[in-house]
Amino acid sequence: MAEIKVMKDILGENDAVAAENQKLFTEKGIYVLNLMGSPGSGKTSILEKTMEKLKDKLRMAVVEGDLFTSKDADRIEKHHVPVIQINTVGGCHLDAKMVQNVLPRLDLDNLDLLIVENVGNLVCPAEFAVGEDEKGVILSITEGDDKPMKYPLMFKEASVVVLNKVDILPYCNFDLKGAEEDIDTLNPGVKIIEASCTKDTGVDAWCEWLQDRVAAKKQLAAK
Ligand code: MG
Ligand code: ZN
Repeated sequence: MAEIKVMKDILGENDAVAAENQKLFTEKGIYVLNLMGSPGSGKTSILEKTMEKLKDKLRMAVVEGDLFTSKDADRIEKHHVPVIQINTVGGCHLDAKMVQNVLPRLDLDNLDLLIVENVGNLVCPAEFAVGEDEKGVILSITEGDDKPMKYPLMFKEASVVVLNKVDILPYCNFDLKGAEEDIDTLNPGVKIIEASCTKDTGVDAWCEWLQDRVAAKKQLAAK
């Protein structure tokens, strides 16, 4: 029982800091997406496409969570979008305090969209809010269609699910319709986008979804 108590305390503390972050983001009118998914699902690739298409339309920045390297941040930096690297030094998720600690390095008065790329992991990133408005999950075709039901929390918590790499569906035993039905069972009505970064499929739909969210947050902040 002691172990459960400790876990609850950690989550409670994290939620308190996440609420502080969220309050600040709302004051500044910034929409924040916590982007989650397995290693290799295409989180950074989606971000690169997003920057190509949106960086001239809105002011965006990226926080990159990674165990040890800055490989993803290096990819983001090439697009001339502000990026901050958080190395968790083996930690398997970002938490609210880690994000709070880097916020002074961002120009929050001149920002519309902040995307936090979480550590590649289908489990605990869903449990630790960082102050985001919403969560998004990227699931690639190569991971298998059983993953939503095997890792339900992530898919229940998400406001958008991107099924990535659909261009290689013919070479994979991935039941697209079945996976989408499972996701909808876990999280009825959730936005599902079929995408391929390499073929530029679904990326426009993803960017439109993001732009709608940013606009809605601006309206909320103006009230
Ligand atoms: Mg990445
Ligand atoms: Zn973790």
